[in-house]
Formats: sequence, structure tokens, C-alpha cells
Amino acid sequence: MSTSTTVPEQFSGYAAFEPQGDTFTLKKHSYTPRPFEEDDVDIKITASGICGSDIHVLRSGWGPSKYPAIVGHEICGEVVRAGKNSGHQVGDKVGVGAQCNSCRQCAACKENNENYCKKAWCATYQGALKDGQYTQGGYADYYRCPGHFAIKVPEGLDLKVAAPLLCAGVTVFSPLHHYGAGPGKRVGVIGIGGLGHLGIQFAKALGAETFALSTSKSKEEDCKAMGADGVLVTKDADSLLKEYAGTFDLLLGTSFAPDMPFDTLYMPLLKPRGHIIQVGLPEERLPGIKPQAIFGKSITGSLIGSPEEIKQMFEVAVKHNVKPWIQERPMSDAQQAVQDMHEGKARYRYVLVNDQ
Ligand SMILES: [Zn+2]
Ligand SMILES: [Zn+2]
Repeated sequence: MSTSTTVPEQFSGYAAFEPQGDTFTLKKHSYTPRPFEEDDVDIKITASGICGSDIHVLRSGWGPSKYPAIVGHEICGEVVRAGKNSGHQVGDKVGVGAQCNSCRQCAACKENNENYCKKAWCATYQGALKDGQYTQGGYADYYRCPGHFAIKVPEGLDLKVAAPLLCAGVTVFSPLHHYGAGPGKRVGVIGIGGLGHLGIQFAKALGAETFALSTSKSKEEDCKAMGADGVLVTKDADSLLKEYAGTFDLLLGTSFAPDMPFDTLYMPLLKPRGHIIQVGLPEERLPGIKPQAIFGKSITGSLIGSPEEIKQMFEVAVKHNVKPWIQERPMSDAQQAVQDMHEGKARYRYVLVNDQ
């Protein structure tokens, strides 16, 4: 038997109704969620982080989006209806990241790599459903998804603080963990924003010597407070390379500019067998790289993390006190908060909070 408290027939949130430019307009929008199934949960949303992806999608920056578009995929809240096969109970505190479903049958899914499922990857918003319907995200009052993709938030993690971990957190945690960030390793985090500020904290939590790489020293104090062992200014590549060439095991690319110095700075900073992992997703292509620059080194990418990795990340976050630096905004302020995010004002994550 499924159990439930009262869940409305329609869910309601803040949507864009057309591709956005540099000025955002979000309006109230109610929609009927897809039918509830027995492996689903309904979540009453407490908090929803604002991710860079939200801005790209609202602007149709990665290709045409579907409108009306309610975005938001750093969702935390309380289970108010639990299907009998959902693995949850009413009252559970859970979080949902950027993925709300996969086929759960293929090799990738069976190996806890649901985030690389090629058969039925369903995005938390804009994800394809039956009959031309699509998922709507977390700038809303409720969210419905399979319980498998609703991860229990551990005691001791405030839901508002936990929200940005669901996308930004696991996006940096997964590759750091996978590529062996840990004691004796040197990690550089390129770009200090929503992703980067968590990259620094998780690299330190995993035990690596950690440097922030930034275009200026303006965030130096913040980076040190996040645990960085140093801040390297990337403008003067030559002097940086004199001291640091060939010393980094991993570089985590969280920001992007079309003229990023892959050949001239990032690759030379890496040790032999070092990796640069690009997690920030631009609207442009990566710049061309000379093959000579990647001898003995690799450039790779990483896409969010699996439910299992989200669980591991939560454990590390609780144990080592990794905490997103958040600024709370009322859900009703979604439009202005998105505008401020677009203008680069977030330090370092806005979290939309519902009245409870
Ligand atoms: Zn995201
Ligand atoms: Zn699959």
C-alpha cells in the first residue's frame, strides 16, 4: 500500500514561457504531474538550489528548450507520498539532483553508473515523458519521481544547505573521487563559483593538497576559508609554470571561457598521467588542443553522479563538514534570484526556499 498525506492534483511553480534573454521573466505556472506509480515518491519541496544549468535551459542556450519551463534540479524536501516500491516512507528527508530516472536495466545502470545510462536518461526538468509530456523542476511546491532517484539526506544536514550538493556537489565529488583525489595528491580547481567552491571543499575533504586557480586574487580570502592551500592567478602563465609545471595530479575545470589556456597552461601544469576533468558545460566547443600538449595526459569530462555516489558524497560531506555557501531567497523571488545568478552575483549558491 502506498501511504500519503494530501498531495494536490496540480503542482505549481515558477516558469519561463519563452526563451529568455538577459532579462528574465518567470511566471506562476500550474501543471498536472504524470500519474503516480508505486515506485514513486511525491516530495514537498523545502529548498531548490539555482544551478548554472537552469540559466542555460531558460535561455535555450544548449538548444531549444520546451516551454513553459520550470527548472531547478537541486531539490530537497520531505516525502509526502511514498509508493510501496519506492524505498521510502512518508516523512523521509530526501534530495533529487539533475537526473530523475534511467532504464535501471542496462550495464551502466546495474554498475551504479545510472548517470551514464544511454537508454532512458530522464532529466529532472525538460526530461521526456510519455505523450510528449516533459518533467518540470524544483522551482515549485512539489516534485514527483521514482524513489530510486530521491536520496535520503542524512541527519545533521540542513535541507537548505544540502540542496546544492545534489547537482553541484556530486558533479565535483564524482570525478575527484573517481580519479583518486586524496592524500599525497595535488588538485587544482579552475574557477571559483557554485561548482568550484565545492570542488575545493571536497578535494580537501578527500585529503588532497588543493589549490584554487582563478583569473584574479579577488576571491582569495574565500578560497582559504573553504580550505584551499593556495590561490594561483592564471593570468601570468609563465611565472606560474616556473613554480608549478608538472606538479598537479588533477585539474577540475569548473568554469569556461572560449580562450581557456588548455595547451599553454593547464596541460603543462599536469604531472605525467595527470587528468584534467571538465565539468563546467559551456554553450561553445572546447578550444582546439595540439596533440603534443596531451602526451601522457588526459582530458576528460564528467556528468553529475549516480544515486550511489550521491550517498557517498553525503557521507563525506557530513564527516568533513563540507557545506555549500548559500544565500537563501524566497521561492516567490525566483525571477530576481535567477537574474542575480545570471549576473554572476551568487556567493556561491542561491537556494530558493518555500514557506513551510
Ligand atoms: Zn545542475
Ligand atoms: Zn540504463
